[in-house]
Amino acid sequence: MQIKVQAFGNTQTNCYIASLEQGDFIVDPGVGACTWVLENAQKPLAICITHGHYDHIWDAHALKKALPHVPLYAPKEDVFMLTSDCFSLGLTPCLPEEICPVECQRAHTTFEVANVPVTYWHFPGHTPGCCMVEIADVFFSGDFIFHRSIGRYDFPYSNPVDMKDSLRRFENLKSPYDKPLYPGHGQPTSLQEEQPRMKAWIAHL
Ligand SMILES: [Zn+2]
Repeated sequence: MQIKVQAFGNTQTNCYIASLEQGDFIVDPGVGACTWVLENAQKPLAICITHGHYDHIWDAHALKKALPHVPLYAPKEDVFMLTSDCFSLGLTPCLPEEICPVECQRAHTTFEVANVPVTYWHFPGHTPGCCMVEIADVFFSGDFIFHRSIGRYDFPYSNPVDMKDSLRRFENLKSPYDKPLYPGHGQPTSLQEEQPRMKAWIAHL
């Protein structure tokens, strides 16, 4: 997999293009990402949203308009953040019919896009639908896990109790080998680099 990344907006939110021979997966098109994605994704297969915060979805509607046949996946519990400007920020919402909601109920859901396995891992707390998206053995962790840090759990619609439970589940997530983890902000890390640090975060919550 080849990964292109560009940070957008004043929150410097990472938008990713993950390219495989089958085509390109776009993760979290934030503020102003649409043009960059259209210039850099040769064969877009899917747009995958990790969670509904504005800085991760701002250009989702514009991208859907430009790529009407490319499915837009988003965690079911965060769909309301895509279809309304719920923080009154001037966001152009997506139409409900533009979104394929993914439901995983604190577990995971796998589907295939062009024979590539895509798994949504639901870790609520930062937002109700907050997910890590695994595309062909690479995690896109959104605002759940960062390099040496975790996502905030004090925003509207955040839930610290859910966050604590999610961190425990992340700590216990078994993988036969270490997998790279690309966060919504900052530099990449890996599953096994971050898992041992969870104990301290859980104690802190
Ligand atoms: Zn967020």
